[in-house]
Amino acid sequence: MDRREFLKRTLISSLTLLMAEKSHATGKETQRGNRANEINWAKYEAEKKTREAVQGESYAVLVDITKCIGCRRCEWACNEWNKNPNKPLSEFEKSASEKPSVFDRIRRTDAETFTIVNRFYKEDVTPIYVKKQCMHCLEPACLSACFVSSFEKTKEGSVLYNPSLCVGCRYCMIACPFDIPAYEYFEPLRPQITKCTMCFDRIIEGKPPACVEICSADALIFGKRSDIIKLAHRKLDENPERYIPHVYGEYETGGTSWLYLSPVPFEKLGFPKLSKKPDTEKTASFLFTVKVLEVVASVPLVYAAYKAISSKGDKEKDE
Ligand code: SF4
Ligand code: SF4
Ligand code: SF4
Repeated sequence: MDRREFLKRTLISSLTLLMAEKSHATGKETQRGNRANEINWAKYEAEKKTREAVQGESYAVLVDITKCIGCRRCEWACNEWNKNPNKPLSEFEKSASEKPSVFDRIRRTDAETFTIVNRFYKEDVTPIYVKKQCMHCLEPACLSACFVSSFEKTKEGSVLYNPSLCVGCRYCMIACPFDIPAYEYFEPLRPQITKCTMCFDRIIEGKPPACVEICSADALIFGKRSDIIKLAHRKLDENPERYIPHVYGEYETGGTSWLYLSPVPFEKLGFPKLSKKPDTEKTASFLFTVKVLEVVASVPLVYAAYKAISSKGDKEKDE
C-alpha cells in the first residue's frame, strides 16, 4: 500500500467512525434525516392512490411569535418523531435560561435538524423566540427549480421530497427564499436533500404535526389554511397593541402553509422581504441561466472533442 492509498483509507475510516459515533451519541437508534423524507414520500405515493382527496382547503400552521417561550420542545419532538439524532428533553428546555446558550448564535436547519428556534431581542431587552422550518409554500421555488421533479406539493399542504429521483444538484437550496433545504454533506455514498415534511405522515392519520402537538404555550396552531388566516386576523383585530399588522405568509411569495404573527417587523427577525409574486418566476429564469451556463461551460469540451475528431480525420486522410 503506497502513502497516498494509506492516507485515503485512514481518512475514510476516520469519517466512518465519526459518523457512527455521531449517530449513536444519544444511545438511541436514529436514522438519516433523509429516511424521514423517504418514508413520507413512500406514504404519499401509497396513499395518493387510495385516499380521498382532502376536502376543501389544505392545512396550515400559525406561529404566534408573541407566545413562544423558547422551550425548544418543538425541536425535541421533531427530532424524536423523525428519528433524527436527539438529546434528553431537559437539555432543550433549559436553553432559554442557561449561559452560554445555544441561543447565543443564529442557527439554520440542517440535514438532521428540520426545525430550530432562534432568539432575537425587542429593543435589545425583551427576548423574542422564532421557530423556523420549511414554510411549505403554495408555489414552492424548490419544486420549480428541480428539473427531475423531486418535489411535490400535496393537497394536505406539505411540500414533500422524493430522494429516489434527486441527482444532488442542489438547485433547490439556491432557489428557496427561506434557506431551508439542507444537504447531507456527511453522507459519503449518496448524499441527499432533507427538510421538514410538515409531518405529512401524521396529518394523513388525522394528527397535528409533532412540533405543534408538544407546544404547550399555544404558540403553534394547526388547522385548515382558511381558518388559520381568519384566526390570525382575529388576533390582530383583538390585540392591535400586541402585534404588528401583518400576517407573514398570507401573501409572501404566493402564500405559504406556515404563517406567522410578530410583535416586531419581520425583517428584524430574519424573515426575507418578499413580494406577492411566487419565487417560481425567478426560479424559471434562474434555471434558464443555469442551463445557459451549462451550455457555455460545455463549449471547451465540445471544442476539444471537435479538435480530437478532426485531427483524427486529418490523420486518416494523410494516411
Ligand atoms: S414554539 Fe412552542 S414548543 Fe417551540 S419553543 Fe416556542 S413555546 Fe416552545
Ligand atoms: S420554504 Fe423553501 S424548501 Fe420549503 S417549500 Fe418553500 S421553497 Fe421549498
Ligand atoms: S412539521 Fe414535523 S417535520 Fe416539520 S418541524 Fe414540525 S415536527 Fe418537524
